[in-house]
Amino acid sequence: MKINFKQTPEKEIHRLVEELGERPYRARQIIDWIYGKLAVSIDDMTDLSKDFRRRLKERAFISNPDVLKIRESGDGTVKFLFGLEDGEAIESVLIPNGRGKFTLCISSQAGCALGCVFCMTGRQGLRRNLRAYEIIDQVIAAKRHLRSLSPDAAPSIANIVFMGMGEPLKNFDEVVSALRTLTDLMGFSRRKITVSTAGIIPRIAELAERAPRVNLAVSLNATTESTRNRLMPVNRKYPLKELLAACREFPLPPNRRITFEYVLLDKINDSAEDAARLVRLLKGIRSKVNLIPFNPPGETAAERFPEPARPDEARILEFRRILHRAKIVATVRRSRGADISAACGQLRADRR
Ligand code: SAH
Ligand code: SF4
Repeated sequence: MKINFKQTPEKEIHRLVEELGERPYRARQIIDWIYGKLAVSIDDMTDLSKDFRRRLKERAFISNPDVLKIRESGDGTVKFLFGLEDGEAIESVLIPNGRGKFTLCISSQAGCALGCVFCMTGRQGLRRNLRAYEIIDQVIAAKRHLRSLSPDAAPSIANIVFMGMGEPLKNFDEVVSALRTLTDLMGFSRRKITVSTAGIIPRIAELAERAPRVNLAVSLNATTESTRNRLMPVNRKYPLKELLAACREFPLPPNRRITFEYVLLDKINDSAEDAARLVRLLKGIRSKVNLIPFNPPGETAAERFPEPARPDEARILEFRRILHRAKIVATVRRSRGADISAACGQLRADRR
């Protein structure tokens, strides 16, 4: 069986080069071709001898993402739809950060099993886990797109966030392997990568132990067990209280914080009491809060929940004010790419 380079750790690439009787620096060249120059095939690697390329092709190949659709929003947001080999589909989103660079939001699973009631991905259930190369391919496709816009001075991806489709900690091994590729082979700094979880408690500590030390984001979304149970069924297994205890114990590197995401739903979790409770819950955790006004699905209202709606602006700002008064760093994440359904929680890859 040939190896897929994008599913292969650095040391195995070195081993292959050695086995083929080539000098060790050839491994670095191959890695640069794949992740730096974004080669589509081994034949692109023109500074390797023809004979070496031929022997390499007998043992390995470069997989290429099947980009089914690219949609650009008026505000510069770009949404990608990918077709996977077995017919599944996933999405990722490039979001301009206003400083000439982009944040890339990627998927870790096709669908998601956790069924949060406000989330479009959750509604389709879990289709399957992604392999590491399918996660990496989303980054490669985004880089290729940016290069195609401006071949000589392609804007760069400043941040990568695992906030697309799926629950990354439910696809732990492949996500860890993708994190290694991003940091070791693609040169992304650990500080620029964020893994977001709905709170798979045992995996949170494991992430710190086994993965590159990337940033952690936790989707809190409620301040009481009962509301969180209703919004996020996963809370019945991993309750809020234990989740926050796990966050307190999380070995945060110096100068870092845990991001807490909080989807604001009108009259469900957006009261002044909620804000005050949130302040208390976060005591003792180096944290920042990302308030995400609910993005409605853009079609008939959710069947599974009594009319979730986005709170009005005054309520959103009041919630943030209460956090600020308690010296909690809190920002409101304004939805980008709304005209192409590229906002958080709207990813569902239904190919329309
Ligand atoms: N499964 C992980 C990562 C993907 S979801 C997690 O839940 O953290 C990424 C973020 O999108 C989560 O914080 C989630 O709460 C938020 N989200 C989901 N649906 C949304 C919606 N309709 N409007 C706004 N944010 C939403
Ligand atoms: Fe899954 Fe995250 Fe959506 Fe919940 S919010 S259903 S965990 S993708």
